[in-house]
Amino acid sequence: MPSRWGGSPREDASRTIAPLNCALPVTITSSSPDAILHEVFGYTAFRGAQAEIVNHVIGGGDALVLMPTGGGKSLCYQVPAIARHRRAQGVAVVVSPLIALMQDQVGALEEAGVHASFLNSSLTLDETQKIEREMMSGRLVLIYIAPERLTTPRMLAQLDSLQQRGLISLFAIDEAHCVSQWGHDFREDYLALNLLHERYPEVPRIALTATADDLTRADIIARLQLEDARVFISSFDRPNIRYAVVEKDEARKQLLRFIQDDHEGDAGIVYCQSRKKVEETASWLNDEGISALPYHAGLDTGVRKRHQDRFLREDGIVMVATIAFGMGIDKPDVRFVAHLDLPKNIEAYYQETGRAGRDGQPADAWMAYGLADVVNQRRMIDEGPAAEEFKRGQRGKLDALLTLAEAHDCRRVRLLAYFGEASERCAAYQNACDNCLTPPATWDATEAARKALSCVYRFHQNGGQRYGAAHLIDVLRGKATEKVVQRGHEALSTFGIGADIAEAQWRVVLRQLIALGYLRTEGEYNTLELTATAREVLRGDVQMLLRQPSDTPKRSSKTGRVTRATRGGKDKPPPLPLDDAALLRFEALKAWRAEVAREHNLPAYIVFHDATLAEMAQTQPDSMDALAQISGVGAKKLEAYGSEILRVLGD
Ligand code: ADP
Ligand code: ZN
Repeated sequence: MPSRWGGSPREDASRTIAPLNCALPVTITSSSPDAILHEVFGYTAFRGAQAEIVNHVIGGGDALVLMPTGGGKSLCYQVPAIARHRRAQGVAVVVSPLIALMQDQVGALEEAGVHASFLNSSLTLDETQKIEREMMSGRLVLIYIAPERLTTPRMLAQLDSLQQRGLISLFAIDEAHCVSQWGHDFREDYLALNLLHERYPEVPRIALTATADDLTRADIIARLQLEDARVFISSFDRPNIRYAVVEKDEARKQLLRFIQDDHEGDAGIVYCQSRKKVEETASWLNDEGISALPYHAGLDTGVRKRHQDRFLREDGIVMVATIAFGMGIDKPDVRFVAHLDLPKNIEAYYQETGRAGRDGQPADAWMAYGLADVVNQRRMIDEGPAAEEFKRGQRGKLDALLTLAEAHDCRRVRLLAYFGEASERCAAYQNACDNCLTPPATWDATEAARKALSCVYRFHQNGGQRYGAAHLIDVLRGKATEKVVQRGHEALSTFGIGADIAEAQWRVVLRQLIALGYLRTEGEYNTLELTATAREVLRGDVQMLLRQPSDTPKRSSKTGRVTRATRGGKDKPPPLPLDDAALLRFEALKAWRAEVAREHNLPAYIVFHDATLAEMAQTQPDSMDALAQISGVGAKKLEAYGSEILRVLGD
């Protein structure tokens, strides 16, 4: 069928009718990618590799796209789908594993004036048949299908018939890592997707994922038979996310301060390890005046769904959740992801924090971390049911995460290095990590570490007893507590040898020693024990440079919400702080948007993103032409909402 799709992607660019600044009604049918980007999506330019990918697929090539969350994967198949449809009819078949995601994507496309639909188990028979008829007619531009449905005999017969008439424009396989058994999202149904290539070899395929590692990538290529596909790997940097780790010290209060100072009224996710902690934290936040909802696998399905819907549809909800929450949540305006407990490993941390700021606007990844986290995570591995070999792997991954948490240099460099990407410290970013923003003071803890370990050694010599961190610190600091006196520890040669070091500093030393595996905790009381490698430290072979614990909050910016929401990352235009008048306009636009969203039964961000409303509030367009210049305003939305917006702005 290739001839139907032939020709350079830009050959008809000249037919583009002045895309943005023309008066209505707009009837543009150009199939050039740039024209589609302007006209349908209202964006000015492709990002990163998007243009190259889009052209490659329009030209009939296969592609594997690895792009971080929020990188803009959807446009990579949506623009080619529209272009190929405009040239020769035909429908793009998008395989997507999550019903909620399909509905949102289809809702957003329809809002932008693109005829799209989905087929999944949420539909009645009548609805299904109606959509199937649309699809078979060639009028539909995109159809989203769940993988298990795609490979049914009925669906395959329909695809055969479409293909005989040259009416399949492309296959897009979203969340392609689901095909890999290495990942955590493996889905049996994805394995059958290789039949697409076998059955319809002429149809271009584009597979997309945000999972970066080599193993998964190789798996996707092999299982989906994408050996001949061009691979597009984007940087996995998320320049708009600020990474920060704070020392745990009444974590809940720290969280509250963080939300109140920087994220008043923002949507965010707070991850906790246990269901109980999820419930407690959510109800505590509510008591403190923050709209928070709990989400974990122990809640009944109806409640979970209701909470998820509210999070998606309402403004400014904080979801307090276990890791059961998040897969397939593509809400673009999540302004922060907070961890009250240590995630499992760096992969999990990056995936969870990646849910913040998909819209490219500034967002925070914030974590409170302390000695107990290290101890708990180690214990969970040690006491878990896994085989020893597997546990070794888990410990290695935990160590890497702990090193990140303890780091006093650029966290972004460390994160990206973990995924095999070299980078420079992010100090110049608008949203630099905490360490680049305020480089922490460090101190040489080599000697202190030796003192601590030799004190543990003395305990051991002195009766073989083991003690916990608090007692150890008392002895090191020369505090003659009742327990110290009772055990005769005043007489130890290590009594008082660390009096010059503050208690908080000692805690960091011990945490580091545990994190690095020189000390191990044991039993119910977390007593400390030397490991085989402790000798390296005792001999002075290990240099330890630690961050100085700070008792002042990392950041006390009292920046207003909207100011932050419009501040750009390093690749964004300069900040647009909204003055009071603009803020009022922004609020008025949001109120209007909320009404439209309710009427259409859609999440508000599908109508317009915050950034688009902020730009309207800032620049105050006073005509349809001026409105059309704003990023995120496509032709259909201009037609549907333009005069309303001008009215709201004019009031
Ligand atoms: P991903 O699927 O890679 O996580 P999305 O496709 O959801 O990312 O895109 C993230 C956000 O970025 C969306 O809100 C999308 O509208 C926006 N976006 C994507 N490409 C562009 C672009 N070229 N210009 C402006 N905004 C874009
Ligand atoms: Zn940095």
